[in-house]
Amino acid sequence: MKYNILIIGGGAAGLAAAVSARKQNSQIKIGIVEKSDRVAKKIHATGNGRCNYTNMDMNSGYFYGDRDFIGKVLEKFTAEDAVAFFKELGVMHRVEEGRVYPLSNQASAVADSLRLFCMENNIDFITDTYVSCIDKKDIFYMGKLCADKVIIATGGKAQPVLGSDGSGYKLLTAFGHELTSLKPALVSLKTETDKIKGLKGVKVFARVALLKDGKEVASDRGEILFTDYGVSGIPVMQISRFAQKGMELLIDMLPDLSGKEVLGEIYERVYTFPGREGGELFSGLVNKKIAIPMLKWAKIEKASVKAKSFTNENIRKCGEFLKQLKLTVLGDNGFENAQVSAGGIELKDFDSETMESKLCKNLYAAGEILDVDAICGGYNLHWAWATGFVAGRSACKNEKSGMRN
Ligand SMILES: Cc1cc2nc3c(=O)[nH]c(=O)nc-3n(C[C@H](O)[C@H](O)[C@H](O)COP(=O)(O)OP(=O)(O)OC[C@H]3O[C@@H](n4cnc5c(N)ncnc54)[C@H](O)[C@@H]3O)c2cc1C
Repeated sequence: MKYNILIIGGGAAGLAAAVSARKQNSQIKIGIVEKSDRVAKKIHATGNGRCNYTNMDMNSGYFYGDRDFIGKVLEKFTAEDAVAFFKELGVMHRVEEGRVYPLSNQASAVADSLRLFCMENNIDFITDTYVSCIDKKDIFYMGKLCADKVIIATGGKAQPVLGSDGSGYKLLTAFGHELTSLKPALVSLKTETDKIKGLKGVKVFARVALLKDGKEVASDRGEILFTDYGVSGIPVMQISRFAQKGMELLIDMLPDLSGKEVLGEIYERVYTFPGREGGELFSGLVNKKIAIPMLKWAKIEKASVKAKSFTNENIRKCGEFLKQLKLTVLGDNGFENAQVSAGGIELKDFDSETMESKLCKNLYAAGEILDVDAICGGYNLHWAWATGFVAGRSACKNEKSGMRN
């Protein structure tokens, strides 16, 4: 079967590319080749089922990669463009602190809008079809399929269960493109667990930082979640791309109070409630469950030990636990649990105006397959829409049948 444009990968970038190409040209033959049994699988899982699909505070500073290149793409498809793009597809939006969600609060709204547009506009879904190699002669050949132009949008390696298993990288490296090293990002961290035993499921508003040889390499603040393997939550995910085995995760569970204020507060409690048991003393300051591992850390034998028996050293250690808990990083939770891949196919061999390869004419790439990732907040999906939009629009150029402009 011969196509004008074949898009490999029916995820966010591939679907955006298809919509954008079709809006440019109603006549050409467009197909999406997808290895899964349906398109848009990952979109359904985004934003905890709500799909945070862009952010009104959009600039290249929130992205990792070649920011000059990224900025040029973002100029071509802004947050306002993303909102308008989906509005045209029937998705109304709501904004929460800059983060944009569908008004219906359902990720399926975004996925359906793309899928339905494609189905209503003669874009073929070639599902259950895995592309393992692409031959370029006069045009591109993939088994029984061939096309004048190909857009590779196979995603990265994050959550292969949703389709993206990293198989797309070799489709581009086969044309001479270079792949950087890859790392799971936006992922929770495995840490030593002795110090946080019993805290599984406890959420705390904290500042977290990664320390390498005592020096801070990344930090963030927000709600963290203790787990049986380590620590999760958005701030931990935000800094996870910098994490390496052997680094320390520094947790400040009272980031709005200075160390001195925290110590003062503990002394005050000991003075005011001398007969209270250690296990009850910190209620109202931190989550009650924190007391147990904290008392252990402070070498207070039992939770039943009364406050009046606390030594200065016990109190200092309690303050240290709350303000400067250090956990050795054992690793991250892997691509299986990551939201994105850090690293990817290098941008230097693509044209930011078109997303066309500089190494192979008529070959394009879009989305997470490229060496770009971003913080949480709608930026990763925005990158997928923006690059898909640019690639789809550009791939239409010079396609013969029925160009509108
Ligand atoms: C749980 C979760 C929640 C997330 N939440 C958000 C969020 O709220 N906001 C946000 O901005 N980002 C979020 N992200 C990140 C975002 O979803 C991705 O960055 C984005 O989907 C990448 O789009 P993509 O099209 O490049 O790749 P993908 O969406 O991964 O799509 C790639 C597609 O290509 C197909 N494919 C792969 N290889 C082949 C092959 N060889 N042949 C044929 N088909 C192939 C795959 O099956 C898949 O359908 C989240 C990610 C996860 C995992």
